[in-house]
Amino acid sequence: MRLLSYQAADGPRTAVQLRDDLVDLNQADPRLPRGMRQLLEMGADGRQRVAQLSGNSGRLDPAGVRRLAPVPDPQKVICIGLNYADHAAESGAEIPAEPVVFCKFPTAVAAPGEPIRLPAVSGKVDYEAELVVVIGREGRNIPREQALEYVAGYTCGHDVSARDWQLHKPGGQWLLGKTFDSFAPMGPDLVTPDEVGDPGQLGIRLRLNGQTMQNSSTRQLIFSIDQLIAYISQVCTLCPGDVIFTGTPPGVGAARKPPVYLKPGDLVEVEIDKLGTLSNPVVAAG
Ligand code: MN
Repeated sequence: MRLLSYQAADGPRTAVQLRDDLVDLNQADPRLPRGMRQLLEMGADGRQRVAQLSGNSGRLDPAGVRRLAPVPDPQKVICIGLNYADHAAESGAEIPAEPVVFCKFPTAVAAPGEPIRLPAVSGKVDYEAELVVVIGREGRNIPREQALEYVAGYTCGHDVSARDWQLHKPGGQWLLGKTFDSFAPMGPDLVTPDEVGDPGQLGIRLRLNGQTMQNSSTRQLIFSIDQLIAYISQVCTLCPGDVIFTGTPPGVGAARKPPVYLKPGDLVEVEIDKLGTLSNPVVAAG
């Protein structure tokens, strides 16, 4: 199942791809909520209702649908750093013994097609293709063996990173460089686990103006999805709609010689097997 959020005149709404049709959930079945987070909170009941939709009502004109991030308003945007061994090596970092965890504020979330806005205060904004996990069920201290039961689905993510603010500010924290507005594009769809299969077997690529800059597979993840969920849930309750950016493979701009940083007019595409392509233009924030 492929779910998506879109911007309607009255606010964000949720739709499902039914064969060739896009169907608005709440229009097709008023017992289904408008928002993705509220749908995920319904759990199995919500999933069953969506699976039963016929497509006879609530059909949308795809040309008129302006997608939002699959979860436009996550409570938490959790990110994992240095989760591909070869990316750790190109960054000059050691392979971590435990996951490196940081976060972005929800104000960083951006929609498919929405411009990434380069802040005037940074000259080193870099790209990072990432598999994003969407949490579907509340949980704390989740055992690794049950962790994938807490996954609502997967989507493509772009962990836009201002290297000068990430690495060269006092205290060694990464937050500021990672959380400028528009630095967390996600989409295009939330694809449910039954369609994705093994999340540890997905090709992941990033193209900058059509040129492939990252090309790897989630087979290379140091900490797998179930390990990450178990690890993070020791600390905080994971809630429906929370998202986890799982780290980027090698090929980032800062590790190149000479370095490559984003500039106005660029187009960045993150493509992951079975999930589709997340495409965002780059503009100056002004
Ligand atoms: Mn990252």
